Amino acid sequence: MLVQLPPSEPLAEIEALVVTNDEVDDGVLDLLPGVRVVANFGVGYDRVDVDACRSRGVIVTNTPGVLDAATADLAFGLLLAAERRIVAGDRLVRRGGWQAGWAVGELAPELTGSTLGIVGLGRIGTAVARRAAGFELRILYTKRNRLEAAAETRLGAEWCALDELLARADAVTLHVPLTAETYGLIDARRLALLRDGAVVVNTARAELIERQPLVRELVSGRLRAGLDVFWDEPSVPDELIGLENVVLTPHVGSATVTARHAMTELVVENVLAVLAGRAPLTPV
Ligand code: NAP
Repeated sequence: MLVQLPPSEPLAEIEALVVTNDEVDDGVLDLLPGVRVVANFGVGYDRVDVDACRSRGVIVTNTPGVLDAATADLAFGLLLAAERRIVAGDRLVRRGGWQAGWAVGELAPELTGSTLGIVGLGRIGTAVARRAAGFELRILYTKRNRLEAAAETRLGAEWCALDELLARADAVTLHVPLTAETYGLIDARRLALLRDGAVVVNTARAELIERQPLVRELVSGRLRAGLDVFWDEPSVPDELIGLENVVLTPHVGSATVTARHAMTELVVENVLAVLAGRAPLTPV
């Protein structure tokens, strides 16, 4: 059954709760006392209070791995679109503004050969790095646990601390989970480290970046961005709507037929496993 969270009254008969970026906290769990599994349709489970679930013996599952290609493709699409002014060009053509042959607006920097900083080189970040190699990008990455030298060589990726990565990159793409540690990771000081004209791509979670400092940098035109995630979805800051230097998509990182099909299968397998008393495939 479809349940609006939090439910307006206790629903004791529900044993499995499937959520799509919905808040699951003590208040919700109090109203769903029969729940044995919370199956998150997606890899990011930052809105599920895992400790609250654990303390009640409720298992939490997510869908890692099956959406890496879809999300990495979108991150690359946003990077290309923001860097090469693809959406701005599309708008110009549609409004009849293309009148002077090749002499249309400012020239874009070349993506090939530029430096991409990947913040979080896990499943999706690694898929982005593989795509970046095809575009002959120089790859910098940061994460808490540095890869072994062989893995760095295989990916052609150089580890550096976050501040250094931001200062050296022409574009930065975020692929860390939203946690207490990463909330506001990219603040005003760190945004200021980025070069003029640098591109920020965010297909992870909006709250990784402080909202007002990013909006300010984009409104000023100093930075460019490709954003798939927002602070108060589905609302998008008004200031961004009219900006040509920002490409906006409605949280569609995993929205391909292949990824959504695989995510659905994984959610169903996880739920059936828990309800049958077996270990889930992908517990959090
Ligand atoms: P993952 O495989 O767990 O990778 C996360 C990476 O972040 C790891 O390299 C991890 O390495 C690093 N990391 C974690 N905490 C960090 C910290 N405090 N500082 C620096 N690095 C840190 O996750 P994933 O499957 O790639 O997914 C990443 C995120 O993408 C998800 O959590 C989700 O929020 C988002 N996502 C969004 C969409 C969308 O529709 N837009 C779709 C899919 C996923 P260390 O542990 O070594 O630090």
